[in-house]
Amino acid sequence: MRPTNAGIRQSWLYLFGPNAIILKAKCIMSEKATRHMALALKEAEAAASRSEVPVGAVLVAPDGRPFASDGNRTLERNDPTAHAEILVIRHACQATGSQRLPGFDLYVTLEPCAMCAAAISFARIRRLYFAAPDPKSGGVEHGAAFFQRDTCHHAPEVYGGIAETEAADLLKRFFAARRGEN
Ligand SMILES: [Zn+2]
Repeated sequence: MRPTNAGIRQSWLYLFGPNAIILKAKCIMSEKATRHMALALKEAEAAASRSEVPVGAVLVAPDGRPFASDGNRTLERNDPTAHAEILVIRHACQATGSQRLPGFDLYVTLEPCAMCAAAISFARIRRLYFAAPDPKSGGVEHGAAFFQRDTCHHAPEVYGGIAETEAADLLKRFFAARRGEN
C-alpha cells in the first residue's frame, strides 16, 4: 500500500449492540472498496452540479460489480425521499425484481439519515460503507441510531470514515458557496 493512500483507505468498523455502539475499531479498506467510494464521490459531485446537496451512493452487487449509482435528486423530483441511497436501492430492487437485496453492499458519501438507514435495513443490505459522519442529520452513529434499536430486524455490517475528508470537503464547499449566494 502506498503511504499516500493511507488516509483515504482508513475506516472505522462499527459493531452495534442494544442501544450502544459496542465496538468502533480502526481498519484499512481494500482497494476495491476505495474505488467504489470514489465512484460515490463522483455522484456526489454530479449532485452538487445540479444544486442538490452533494451526497452520492453506489450499490455493489454480490459479484463485486457496481450495480447502481446515483446522487441526491430531491429538488429535481420534488421528492423529499429522493436521497441517493433510496434511489439506488429502488433501482436495484426494480432491476432484480425483489424487495430485498441480500449480498449487496452500499457505499454512500455521508452517514445515512434515519429514513435511509431504515430502507437499508428493510432491503437487507449486507454491508454499509459511509464516508463523512453527519452529527446533524445522521441516523446510524447519531440521532435515531436506527441499527441499534430493538425494532431494527436487520443491521448491516457498518464501516464509516472511508474517504471522510474528501466527502466532508465537498459538503463544506457546497454549503459555503450556497451561503455566498444569499
Ligand atoms: Zn437519507
